[in-house]
This record gives sequence, structure tokens and C-alpha cells, in this order.
Amino acid sequence: MEKIYKDLVIIGAGPGGYEMAGLSSNAGLNVCLIEKEELGGTCLNCGCIPTKTYNHYAEIIEEVAKAFNKQIDFNFVDIYNKKEQVINNLRLGIAAGLKNVDIIKGKAKLKKENDNVLVNVDDKQIIAKWIVLATGSKEQILNIKGIELAKTSKELLALDYIPKSLTIIGGGVIGLEMASIYNAYGCKVSIIEYFPSILPHFDKEATRRLTNLVKAKGIDIYPNSAVYEIAKSNDMLDVKAKSLNKDIVVSSEVVLSCTGRMANIDDLGLDEVGIDYTSKGIIVNENKQTSISNVYAIGDCTGGIMLAHKATYDGKVALCHILGKTNHINFDVIPACVFSIPELSSVGLTEEEVINKGIEYKTVKEMYRTNGKAQAIDA
Ligand code: FAD
Repeated sequence: MEKIYKDLVIIGAGPGGYEMAGLSSNAGLNVCLIEKEELGGTCLNCGCIPTKTYNHYAEIIEEVAKAFNKQIDFNFVDIYNKKEQVINNLRLGIAAGLKNVDIIKGKAKLKKENDNVLVNVDDKQIIAKWIVLATGSKEQILNIKGIELAKTSKELLALDYIPKSLTIIGGGVIGLEMASIYNAYGCKVSIIEYFPSILPHFDKEATRRLTNLVKAKGIDIYPNSAVYEIAKSNDMLDVKAKSLNKDIVVSSEVVLSCTGRMANIDDLGLDEVGIDYTSKGIIVNENKQTSISNVYAIGDCTGGIMLAHKATYDGKVALCHILGKTNHINFDVIPACVFSIPELSSVGLTEEEVINKGIEYKTVKEMYRTNGKAQAIDA
């Protein structure tokens, strides 16, 4: 087995791992980055970037329709190809920014030898002062009959055509973004949500207003509905759910399952080396150290808020700790945006959380419609 000696080895090249690799190398560390798939992780390859590319064209289509009362004639394959081009360009950009980082393609696994944690990738073994786990997240799949008939968000984004109809199981951030995109492209969209409202963790008034706007575009929303089966019916898929005390069946050409994401930590060797984790992800302290002090974990694999910039800032915290520097990063105020059409954004606590914590607060409300720019762009 080839032995490679490094200051730092990072497993996973998503926005947590690749950003930290670049920063660490600029800070003078000898860095190795291991990735089993493509540079950029979920965010670039099947998350933020493809959805934002699709969202951009969806907004243009809606804007033209609203401004000129006219439908744009478009070929979806052009938009699909544009998305692929954006992803490829950005992958090249990441590679160019990591010139001084040793990038190894392969699946990494932790190993313990004489009380030291090492990283094995195929026939290579990396021995480093510090190890960072940045293995991201994967789809959480409902345990119901027929779930294999549904597509994941990654599989939906890989389609080079627009289905005639789409049922989305899960009205969370990804569900709402996909609903807005596919609706704008002319697909009939339905959302089935387990909780009483879509985006259950966002501000209640904002989600109520967004629900009305989304419904007005023709997107059907079934709240309080627990899906229990997906079944084939001729060329369609029937999604069966208990909606309060009623049984409902929503039929469509394609079904998207997006009921949340979970830490991607299987088969990483955590048990073998003795790193603590829960069902939510790897346990870390405020420096992003795991239960083994020279092994850090950042981003989605630690559970909690799963956002690209959160993963990047986790990496900055870990790097500051490795370099013996202090950081002033405040994770209480992570901005988040739902790229539905229209968008919804938030930062800090919701009003409900403030009430539950007994914090004194004041509400200020401005109607966007009264803003001059909003009127100018008819938003
Ligand atoms: P990831 O990006 O998941 O990267 C982890 C990498 O580790 C992967 O490339 C994986 O192949 C690799 N890996 C895993 N195990 C191993 C191993 N054993 N050996 C080698 N490599 C391994 N966030 C936003 O902030 N804004 C958005 O608009 C947004 N939109 C999204 C839309 C969708 C549809 C989805 C699914 C997610 C979206 N997110 C968005 C979330 C965002 O993609 C994640 O929070 C972010 O990618 C997490 O970064 P990460 O570095 O922790 O992990």
C-alpha cells in the first residue's frame, strides 16, 4: 500500500471540503482532498447550482408571461444543456482553485493503527496530522410501499424532459423550489405535506402568504397528509395518502420524494475508529472536533442546518482551530433562502421561536407591494 504523508486530509469535496482545502493550502498546509464522485459535492452537482439554473429560466418564463401576456416557446433540452454547462464550468473552476491540493479520486474509509486514525483510499493510505470529515448528506427515503417508483431530487434533475404532471412528497425547501420550477415549465404540480403547512420550520405568516401565491399559480397543496403508498396505474403513478380522516389519491406521470436529508456517514469507519455520532450525524464541539481531537467534521455530515454556506463556515471554524486562530463566526444568524417563485428568506429565530424562548420582541411589518421598485417590476 502506498503511504502518503500530509498535514491535512479532507474527505468529501462539497462546499465544506473543497473550500476548506483551498483555504488550508493558502495558509501553507500540505493538503489532500479525497472525493469519490465529482468535485463540488451535492451543491454543485445535484443541489444548489442545477436548481438555481432552472429557477433562473423559470423566472424568465413567468416574467415574460406576466409582462406581455405571452407564453415563451422554449425547448427544455436547451435549459438542461445550459445547466450541465454551468456545472462543468464550475467544476473546472474548483479544480483550478485547488492547484496546490493533492486531489485523490476514490472512496475513503477511516482506519485505526496503533491509536492513530489513518485514511485508506483504494491502494493508498494517507497519514495526516489532521483529518476532516466532510461527507455531506443523502436523501431520507420514506419506508412505504412503492417508494422505489418515486424519483429523488438528483434523479429528477437528471431528466432532460418536463413531465406533464409531478407529485411532490414533502413541502420543504427542496419540494417548494422544485414545485415552482416545474410549474413555470408547464408541468401540473401537486405537493403532499405531512404537516399542517408547507415549510413547517419557517415563519408562519410568511409561509401562509407563500402558500396563497403558490396555489394561485395552480400548484395543488395537500397539507396534513401522510403518504402510505405509491402504485402504478397504467402510465401514471398514484400517490395514496391519509389526509386527516380522508383517503386521497393524487395521480401524476412522475413522483418526487423529498422528505428531508440525512448525514452521509455509513461505511466511513466511524465505529472502527471510535468516533461518536447519532442518527442525526457526527457529534462535534464548537471547534468542529469529533470525539477524536485531531479528527474534525464539517457540513451536512454533522446534521443540523444543511446549507452550503453553513458547511463552508464550519470548515473555516475547523481551520481556525487547527491554525490556533480565533474565529468570530456566529452560527445563530445563518441566512437561509427558499428559491420558490417568489422567494422566501430568513435569518435568526422565527417569531414562534422567540415566543417559546420567552424573549421580549417587537414585530415590524412592511408590505413589499408598497415599495416603488416592487411596483416597477410588478412583483
Ligand atoms: P456535500 O456537498 O454533500 O459533499 C459531500 C461530498 O463527499 C460528496 O461529493 C460525496 O461524494 C463525498 N463523499 C461522501 N463520502 C465519501 C467517502 N467515503 N469518500 C470520498 N468522498 C466521499 N444549500 C444552499 O445553501 N443553497 C441552496 O440553494 C441549496 N439548494 C439545494 C438544492 C437541492 C436539490 C439539494 C439536494 C440541496 C441544496 N442545498 C442548498 C444544500 C447543499 O447542497 C448542502 O448543504 C451542501 O452541499 C453541503 O455541503 P457538504 O460539503 O457538507 O456536503
